[in-house]
Amino acid sequence: ATPVSIMVGTGRAAENGVLFRKGEALQTLRSASVIALDKTGTLTKGKPEMTDFEVAEDTDENALLAMVAAIEDNSEHPIAEAIVRAAKERELSLPPISDFNTHAGMGVQAQTEGHRLEIGADRYLQKLGYELGAFKDTADKLAGEGKTPLYVAVDGKTVAVIAVADTLREGSVEAVKAFHQLGLKVAMVTGDNRRTAEAIAKKLGIDDVMAEVMPDGKVEAVKQLRQRYGQLAFVGDGINDAPALAEADVGIAVGTGTDVAIESADVVLMRDDLRGVVNAFAISRATLRNIR
Ligand code: ADP
Ligand code: MG
Repeated sequence: ATPVSIMVGTGRAAENGVLFRKGEALQTLRSASVIALDKTGTLTKGKPEMTDFEVAEDTDENALLAMVAAIEDNSEHPIAEAIVRAAKERELSLPPISDFNTHAGMGVQAQTEGHRLEIGADRYLQKLGYELGAFKDTADKLAGEGKTPLYVAVDGKTVAVIAVADTLREGSVEAVKAFHQLGLKVAMVTGDNRRTAEAIAKKLGIDDVMAEVMPDGKVEAVKQLRQRYGQLAFVGDGINDAPALAEADVGIAVGTGTDVAIESADVVLMRDDLRGVVNAFAISRATLRNIR
């Protein structure tokens, strides 16, 4: 493309709320054959709510929720915020905690009221050698509904399952349809539970799901998807997404995302809507057509 046509293209994109940080990205985007999207905060709003709390028969639900929330109050994960909010809505007072540990992509651990608690994904409790017991069925059922199940263990015994659910962003369904119309494969990358991810992907009509990806595994996921489908654009918002945004042929950051994500991206969405990405693709194709 000529410098002038690229200027026109990036200018048109800017009017549509899409900022091209590099002119080449307009050309690279045109030859992309797959678009991979982060789930939490990109396809969904990233502000989950607690929807379910199932406890063992001999367990006091509110007492346990207070302990769990006290621990999650030390985590910045959106899941943690959802649990703390739920405890505040029930007007529970949070006990003091100590020895807090966070394990990225797994869960959290701390000591409170004389007990050791772990809260997190099935793989976290399994890694510690805990039995999930009948809570596994509850968790699977909740995950099938597109909710994220978390297990709670007290002193090494699984005693509860919590589910949190996130809402799809307004433009997500429409954007996936439009990507398909542009002939693109659409993939989702997430650290979330496989069942949960697949239930959400089904609602959106997504072709390929990379689930249970650890925070440092997103780059590997991008490489695998590129091998499967060819040139790749990745859309993400979080700190965890920065390496994948840099690895992708075109990295697209959601503008309301973290600074690190924005700095690693070639393209930034000024509006909080994936339909901006659809516009970016359309403009990249139109721009290059003009100069033929
Ligand atoms: P994502 O950004 O897709 O949610 P993460 O890597 O941040 O992926 O988290 C993956 C999984 O790790 C979560 O779905 C959850 O099961 C578990 N997890 C992470 N942080 C917490 C936390 N603070 N409390 C409980 N579980 C957590
Ligand atoms: Mg995210």
